[in-house]
Amino acid sequence: MNLIKNLVTRPLSYLVMLALLSPGLARAKLNVVASTPDLASIAKEIGGEHIDLTTLAKPTEDPHFVDAKPSFIVKLNRADVLIEGGAELEIGWLPALLDQSRNTKLAPGAAGHVACAQGVQLLEVPSTLDRSKGDIHAAGNPHYLVDPVNAKIVAQRIADAFCAQDGKSCDACRANLKKFTDALDAKMAEWQKKLAPFKGQQIVAYHNSWLYFGERFGLKIDLFLEPKPGIPPTPSHLAEVITKMKADKVHVIIVDPYLDRRTAESVAAKTGAIVVDVTQFPGGVKGTEAGYIPLLDYLVNSIAHALGEK
Ligand SMILES: [Zn+2]
Repeated sequence: MNLIKNLVTRPLSYLVMLALLSPGLARAKLNVVASTPDLASIAKEIGGEHIDLTTLAKPTEDPHFVDAKPSFIVKLNRADVLIEGGAELEIGWLPALLDQSRNTKLAPGAAGHVACAQGVQLLEVPSTLDRSKGDIHAAGNPHYLVDPVNAKIVAQRIADAFCAQDGKSCDACRANLKKFTDALDAKMAEWQKKLAPFKGQQIVAYHNSWLYFGERFGLKIDLFLEPKPGIPPTPSHLAEVITKMKADKVHVIIVDPYLDRRTAESVAAKTGAIVVDVTQFPGGVKGTEAGYIPLLDYLVNSIAHALGEK
């Protein structure tokens, strides 16, 4: 009788033990998903070794049009925290994945759902919503993280979210936050100084993703190869851009890795401009892989260099 009892209860007790252990193991590190690599790099600065981090978009992918893989649903299903840009940046691909992941912790409004745009002063917010011309910036310009001041706001928000979810690592996250913001403050002075000689100069961008960078560093990045965000360049629009570039002596065109560089090159050939490869994401261009601060170093240096050459 005892033997039978042992055979029955032992496997059960092992199962119970495993069941008790495994959530403990899962909880050892906060499981974090970031929609884009810039948000992921800031999450890594804050969470460090205390989080398991997954990034959905590749650094060379257009954040408006990310290739939604089925594996993303699994990642979202297991996550404790989702960090997204918001302001409709990911509206074309993330909400459907989130629905399918059936993870109530990440539902919009839940503590595990961090929509970073909420703490940021958005620019170009339209007074009336109008998508009739295919505008993908209908909630305002969502590319705010190329301004280091916004990176500090987002870092604070991410630290708050990690603290709310995992009290044990909160002190470490707060210390990392201080380290990151101190480093940004020190770098900011250097970046401002480097771009100061070019104050007021105009730059052409393919897509309107450089507004906040321009505002922060005193550059006018307000002429675009796209007639509207998300609408591919047309010959008539490009002819207008070329005329303006010649009239205003604009000599630099910046292009993100997922956009058509040849279009920029053909405009450059007609205007004598330089094409500069830029990226909003660590890893989008060679030399930016190491994180947010190296990314800004690259942007400031390459843009200053191009402006200085002319
Ligand atoms: Zn955009």
